[in-house]
Amino acid sequence: MRKNYGCTHFIVGRDHAGVGSFYHPFAAQEIFDELEDLGITPMFFRSFFYCKKCGSIANDKICPHPNELHIDFSGSNMRDVLVSGQRPSADSMRPEVADVILTYENPFVE
Ligand SMILES: [Zn+2]
Repeated sequence: MRKNYGCTHFIVGRDHAGVGSFYHPFAAQEIFDELEDLGITPMFFRSFFYCKKCGSIANDKICPHPNELHIDFSGSNMRDVLVSGQRPSADSMRPEVADVILTYENPFVE
């Protein structure tokens, strides 16, 4: 479907299917091993977190610091905060990005 809309790349994140614990967190990435060329380039993203030592958003590939310095994100929680009209913390989303999202009455697809 994304290819039909002109996309050349498709980002597949952790728990991309998002149906609770029915699939394991990287099942949506592994399914591409069984598929032939779809004419769109899949890009597999790891989990992201805020690292207190790095002082930025990172993942386990680029951050050498221990887990106790990491703050995990929840996409569901971030959406809930934005839908309630509040700006997520600056550690989890740039304020200028949050402000743009907050200009929309309903920024998420239902
Ligand atoms: Zn770090």
